[in-house]
Amino acid sequence: MSAFGTVFTPEMIISRFENNNWSTPQVVKSDSITLHPGAHVLHYSSTCFEGLKAFRHADGGIYIFRMDKNVARMAQSSELLSLPKIDQTMLSEMITDIVSRFAADVPNPPGSMYIRPTHIGTEPSIGKAAAPSLQSLMYVLLSPVGDYFAGGAKPLRLLLEDNARCASHMGMVKSGGNYASALQPIMKARAAVQADQVLFCPNGDVQETGAANFLLIDGKEIITKALDASFLHGVTRDSILTLARDRGMTVSERQLTVDELLERAAKPDAEAALSGTAAVLTPVGTLIHDGKEHTVGTGQGGPTTNALRQALNEIQWGQAEDKHGWLTKV
Ligand code: PMP
Repeated sequence: MSAFGTVFTPEMIISRFENNNWSTPQVVKSDSITLHPGAHVLHYSSTCFEGLKAFRHADGGIYIFRMDKNVARMAQSSELLSLPKIDQTMLSEMITDIVSRFAADVPNPPGSMYIRPTHIGTEPSIGKAAAPSLQSLMYVLLSPVGDYFAGGAKPLRLLLEDNARCASHMGMVKSGGNYASALQPIMKARAAVQADQVLFCPNGDVQETGAANFLLIDGKEIITKALDASFLHGVTRDSILTLARDRGMTVSERQLTVDELLERAAKPDAEAALSGTAAVLTPVGTLIHDGKEHTVGTGQGGPTTNALRQALNEIQWGQAEDKHGWLTKV
């Protein structure tokens, strides 16, 4: 199987914003776009994107998971980056249109069709270092993906990093610059301590990793940072917390400090996990802090992580009732 996100369907769907209007979406070849070298995005990072998935059910139907949430987050990212306002209904229709055209290419579970809406500022103006792009391009790329965890969900090693992932008021924006700025710490953590990911904890505040949210599970309680502007409001996080509440667990959305995390993680039945569209819910086995390795519980994940992950997959795959109305049939 090719690496996650490297295979694309031959076509995508695009719309351009010009003269205060979105053009009628068009299906075009997905191997290139034309961009002026002075395009705003290439200089001032006016770019945001989304990641969501469509799943094939046993009856052959194709269902998109929580499209409304991802479309709303893209609208919010666009607004916070001063990109042209997006039309959420139009973007939803673009997504369902392109997914239905490539319905035959949606893999069976545990695979899925990864959907990547993208919005970039295209105005050819390098004079706009401190002004928004008045033109933009929005497109929806599709990438059939296999099981991210082929070979099993191995518990992850996380390095706790004192620095922030990005500017504290921009964490909730799904923008390219945030990812670029997190790369150096991640590469260093890989090289220095063979960490899989970095857990960003500025001033001892446990936030998130480079591509997933962090959850601590202590018995019947699940603890994760309360929503604020400093980190990405994961759709998977929200889904897992909802499923945890459904099972009678206590969900504590509040500040979690590194000290409390390390203390609680030492309990024999503690569990920790990363949530995200690609990660689903992946167990965290080891936390590395100040040169010391701290095993989380048994270090092997645990029953609550597995049960929540399975409950989410069963809804996505059409094997359990979609009682929260999370699926959109294309
Ligand atoms: N945080 C970051 C920085 C991410 O890139 C992602 C992946 N989109 C998440 C959290 C998880 O978000 P979601 O559950 O919506 O995929």
